Amino acid sequence: MAGEPQADCLFCKIVAGQIPATVVRETETTVAFRDINPQAPTHVLVIPKVHYADAASLVEAEPGVAADILREAGQVALDEKIVEHGYRVVFNTGSGAGQTVFHAHAHVLGGRGLQWPPG
Ligand code: 5GP
Ligand code: ZN
Repeated sequence: MAGEPQADCLFCKIVAGQIPATVVRETETTVAFRDINPQAPTHVLVIPKVHYADAASLVEAEPGVAADILREAGQVALDEKIVEHGYRVVFNTGSGAGQTVFHAHAHVLGGRGLQWPPG
């Protein structure tokens, strides 16, 4: 069924506590944890507890949870004190754009200067 945990999904395993992660925030619908290979001083992933392959699929099926992801991304930025200098919220979508884990997630990046376009 749509949104159900997938046995072979890394982020579903993190949601289930089967793989450890450094969790910084959790709500009824979301988990935020530090990226294992950080690309900036702050690099946190915000994921829905439900499984959808990407952000577009998530917002189509469960728009309220997609809004929760954006709200939590903002809260992470506040917690990490990266708002003043600017930060980025990114949804890589598709392997051509660098998506490697096909469970929707927002990257929250900050704490250093960020170039635009990102490349
Ligand atoms: P994507 O490339 O799909 O946009 O982002 C996936 C992110 O997940 C990458 O930045 C990668 O470093 C991170 N990642 C992959 N495996 C793990 C893991 O086991 N734990 C954590 N915390 N992050 C992971
Ligand atoms: Zn999943």
